[in-house]
Amino acid sequence: MLPKFTYVRPTTVNEALAVLNDRPALVHGGGTDLLGCLREGVFSADTLVSLSSINELKGIRQATDGGLRIGALATVAEIATSEAVASRYTALTEAASAVASPQLRNQGTIGGNLCQKPRCWYYRGHFDCLRKGGDLCYAFEGENQYHCIFGGDMCYIVHPSDTAPAALGAVCRVSGPAASRSVAVESFHVPPTEDPQRETVLAPDEIVTEIVLPAPSPGLRSSYRKVRTRGAWDFALAGVALAIVFDGDTVRSARIFLSGAAPVPWRSKAAEEAIVGTTLDTTTINSAAAATVEGAEPLSQNGYKVALFEGLMKEQLEAISG
Ligand SMILES: Cc1cc2nc3c(=O)[nH]c(=O)nc-3n(C[C@H](O)[C@H](O)[C@H](O)COP(=O)(O)OP(=O)(O)OC[C@H]3O[C@@H](n4cnc5c(N)ncnc54)[C@H](O)[C@@H]3O)c2cc1C
Ligand code: SF4
Repeated sequence: MLPKFTYVRPTTVNEALAVLNDRPALVHGGGTDLLGCLREGVFSADTLVSLSSINELKGIRQATDGGLRIGALATVAEIATSEAVASRYTALTEAASAVASPQLRNQGTIGGNLCQKPRCWYYRGHFDCLRKGGDLCYAFEGENQYHCIFGGDMCYIVHPSDTAPAALGAVCRVSGPAASRSVAVESFHVPPTEDPQRETVLAPDEIVTEIVLPAPSPGLRSSYRKVRTRGAWDFALAGVALAIVFDGDTVRSARIFLSGAAPVPWRSKAAEEAIVGTTLDTTTINSAAAATVEGAEPLSQNGYKVALFEGLMKEQLEAISG
């Protein structure tokens, strides 16, 4: 059952920030993740600050430098179906289209997608695990088939967002009571090595207001694909986001992120280095796929992810090489 809480619906960002500054409260975007957590008792809240009536957080707009500004309240469905996104940021369109089900995409926002809580079943269940302030990670020696193969330390979640790894090169605009700041999406999530009880760099009284995508470089091709257990809707077992800038047939630069791999969207610099300056022939693609999983540290039940990531990377690089 959903516990009782006070529900506040401000109409401006400043009003929302004033409430967050005034008392302990949680931000409510579309509620597809938050309300489930409250209902299941993962955490509690005395006050919810709904963003739904703040018009300045809505919509997708052209930036003056040729990039795109996506309001934090833009729904995942709006992004998946936006022509402005699809014409330049294929990876983001493909990622948004792969989120959950049509109903959840219509309700869930991009701000909430970036800030959502982990899906680890111990965390979501009645276990006082390390991420919830306890002493132990139950997944480490327990049921860990969907957990991470990179970046695990004390906590072994995988970051659940599909859009974060595919927002390649984007920046989050964040507002707090004192000031606004920009945080690269790449630096927005907190690894357990830094703090196993935080998912993002946001302070409790800060709000994501928009996601700013840079103007695409000439020659950019991008893609996102995830493998999941069910076709209908499911989180990524393994996902690959590519943003590759080609100069003719040669790879001039590359950004490669993995989902379903690590507690944060995981940048594979080894795969990037393996392809930059090459023409993505078969030998290079095989080396890059092997480099992707170098250093992986699977747990007792998720060793299958190593081969899955290697195969997926190979397929995605073959597809993007045209
Ligand atoms: C059945 C199911 C399947 C799902 N499948 C997927 C999937 O395949 N891929 C995927 O990526 N996600 C998936 N999700 C997760 C998630 O619900 C959606 O991704 C959605 O986009 C979350 O957005 P929301 O607006 O509903 O977030 P909310 O539930 O409103 O909020 C989520 C969290 O973000 C915080 N928050 C929200 N907006 C802001 C903001 N602007 N600033 C600061 N903090 C904020 C909230 O306080 C809360 O902690 C799934 C969820 C469910 C229930
Ligand atoms: S993986 Fe993280 S969230 Fe899951 S049980 Fe371990 S500490 Fe908790």
